[in-house]
Amino acid sequence: MVIPDRVIARAFASLEPLGDCLISDYACNHKGVPIIGWRDEGRARSLAVHRVVWYAAHRSVPVEPLTLHRTCGDVECARLEHLVVMTRAENAATRPNAMR
Ligand SMILES: [Zn+2]
Repeated sequence: MVIPDRVIARAFASLEPLGDCLISDYACNHKGVPIIGWRDEGRARSLAVHRVVWYAAHRSVPVEPLTLHRTCGDVECARLEHLVVMTRAENAATRPNAMR
């Protein structure tokens, strides 16, 4: 997958600090995750903003069974320092409410 630089720039421009996190002001999907959309050679594309942020740093996004987990637990957060790659099983085991 290739994400155009202009989309990466828009994703970063949408981030606003909230406490220790960076929250995008793009509209959220049903899971509460901000989504950025763009058109690529006439095709509609969309991706979670935190995945675009990850892509900007690593030039790839994790694919199944890997997922991007947020160490802060905020599904709206797209701060690179709060993102870590995990498997779905690891992610489920480390959710904040599962640790208590
Ligand atoms: Zn965060």
